[in-house]
Amino acid sequence: MALFSGLGFDSHRIIDNCKIYTENMNIPDSIDMISGLMIGGICVDKDKRFMANSDGDILIHSIIDSLAPTILKKDIGELFPDSTNMYKNYPSEKLLKHMIEKIEGENVKYRIHSLDCVIVIDSVKITNFKDQIIQNLQRFFPQTSIVLKGKRTEGSLSSDSGYCWVVSLIEYFK
Ligand SMILES: [Zn+2]
Repeated sequence: MALFSGLGFDSHRIIDNCKIYTENMNIPDSIDMISGLMIGGICVDKDKRFMANSDGDILIHSIIDSLAPTILKKDIGELFPDSTNMYKNYPSEKLLKHMIEKIEGENVKYRIHSLDCVIVIDSVKITNFKDQIIQNLQRFFPQTSIVLKGKRTEGSLSSDSGYCWVVSLIEYFK
C-alpha cells in the first residue's frame, strides 16, 4: 500500500456575468454555456462569474490540481491547455470527468480517500451551498470523504477574487 497527498490551489478574479466570452466563438453545441459563478459545479451567483478561460470553477480546478500532477504527472495546464479555444467557457465539471477517465485508464489502481477543501471568498456565503456542492462532487467521488470550509479574506487577500486550496489523500494499489 502506498499513500500520497496532493495539494491543489486555484484563484480567479470575480467579474459581472456578461456574454462577451460566449459571443463570436465557435463552441460546439454540446458544450453548455456558462451559467454564472460556478463553485464545485454549482451556480452560486448567476450575475457573476470567474474570469478564466473555462468557467473558472476554483474548487474543481483545485481538485484537479491536487490529483492530476500526483497521479498523471501532468498539471491542469498540461492536461487542458488554455492556448487553444477548445476549453473556452468549458464547464469545469467536464474537465473533472475527463481527468477521472484518464486516471481510470492508468494501469495502477487508486483510491481517493479524502478531499479537504478550503474556499476563501467574500461575495458568497459558502455555508449556504455547502451541502449542494458536496453532494454534486460526491457523484464524481462516491467513495471519498469530502470536507468543505468557507472563509472570508478578512482584508488580507483581494475581496474581488476567489481562492481555493484542496488537499487530497490518494492510495495506490499494485
Ligand atoms: Zn482555475
